[in-house]
Amino acid sequence: NKPADGKNMDSMSDEEKEALGKSSENYEFQAEVNRLMDIIINSLYTQKEVFLRETISNAADALEKVRYLSVTDEAVLGDKKDLDIRIEWDSEAKTLSLTDTGIGMTKQDLINNLGTVAKSGTTNFLEAVAGGADVNLIGQFGVGFYSTFLVADKVTVTSKHHDDEQHIWESTADANFRIAKDPRGDTLGRGTRITMHLKEDSTEFLNEYKLRDLAKKFSQFISFPIYLRVEKSKTEE
Ligand code: ADP
Ligand code: MG
Repeated sequence: NKPADGKNMDSMSDEEKEALGKSSENYEFQAEVNRLMDIIINSLYTQKEVFLRETISNAADALEKVRYLSVTDEAVLGDKKDLDIRIEWDSEAKTLSLTDTGIGMTKQDLINNLGTVAKSGTTNFLEAVAGGADVNLIGQFGVGFYSTFLVADKVTVTSKHHDDEQHIWESTADANFRIAKDPRGDTLGRGTRITMHLKEDSTEFLNEYKLRDLAKKFSQFISFPIYLRVEKSKTEE
């Protein structure tokens, strides 16, 4: 079940990292989003696997959107006809990523959807959690994306929408996030990759069997294929 063109995207060269550092713009998270992230990243909540359900669900939404658009405008698919989700990980780098060939996000979408535009769900979720509600309900409040900070202390979102160039959003769960045009150019073709730099206490997710089980569990109602990229064993080299 390996994708044909599964290039390891997050292996940025030093020059690329430098270019990204130089050209990135800083944005402040909307205050409630900031509070929400603080709570999530410091949460001792044990059902951390929720993050996978939420990222799969967002990927499926994005795939549904591009599928819908393509009915009337086939050009939105470009050369990339596949509609799927790929999960990859790197035990050494301690990263886990989820890539979809969905609609993607423009730079403005990244700014609006991932941090600056207030959502009523943010405050409602904060209040619910303060009142003892389960973190598991996060998706129902429309803030599921931030569940990635249950397992990661840094999240990188790379996205390519047909109306814009590929951009990178990155946050280390502090008050600001960064956005830059991707110095690597358009490597995705279309869609979004969410890369989670896992916290020390969440490296249990860097495991084929665990990921397989969870992907199976959370893809039950998802109508797109999910591929798990199996890591090459270092000892076999
Ligand atoms: P919800 O899915 O309920 O809208 P989320 O917090 O899960 O809330 O996601 C926030 C928004 O971020 C989504 O509505 C969508 O616009 C954007 N988004 C998140 N993940 C993706 C993705 N993989 N592809 C495209 N857009 C995404
Ligand atoms: Mg969602």
